[in-house]
Amino acid sequence: MSKQEELDNIACTVRWCSNCELYFGRKNIVFGEGDPDAKLMLIGEFPEEREDVIGKPFVGRPGKLLEKMLAYISLDRSKVYLSNIVKCHPKNNRTEDQEVQCCINYLKKQIDIIQPKVIVTLGATATQRLLDIKENISKLKGTWQEFKGIKVLPTFHPSYLLKNFTDENRESVKRDFDKAKAMLTDIK
Ligand code: URA
Repeated sequence: MSKQEELDNIACTVRWCSNCELYFGRKNIVFGEGDPDAKLMLIGEFPEEREDVIGKPFVGRPGKLLEKMLAYISLDRSKVYLSNIVKCHPKNNRTEDQEVQCCINYLKKQIDIIQPKVIVTLGATATQRLLDIKENISKLKGTWQEFKGIKVLPTFHPSYLLKNFTDENRESVKRDFDKAKAMLTDIK
């Protein structure tokens, strides 16, 4: 079975998932998308309203900013894989513990199949939930972590950047993307 077929099988399961309350309010599941052979995977927290309507990750304003960050390291979104910790949109725009518990195994399966060389986690929740740690994002940001032998680099979530668009934050995220690119080149 190809990687895409394996991913399609999980997406099919997620489409029928009713493990948590987010199932009631969702318009679409947002499984993730991109190259199943991607060397770089980026993980956000949850689909926002626009993503819920369209059924694709990062299609709103944070997504446009994420595309710019990728362009900065000469990558197009079709060449990476984008996903989230939670696959359905939470109406209150925050994830509850139970929702994450119900959903995170879908993400772990996606990672197992794709086997990226580098994962960039976007924001505190994506970082802490994937790595199962509690440290503050300000401590973790820009530092190499590991998930099942895969290099993980936490950085700010594009939604946070949009709200805090300072030169300092921008330069700091650029440095993180430079680091991710250098690591991808190193382990090619
Ligand atoms: N923010 C996320 O974390 N994920 C999306 O898919 C969109 C916005």
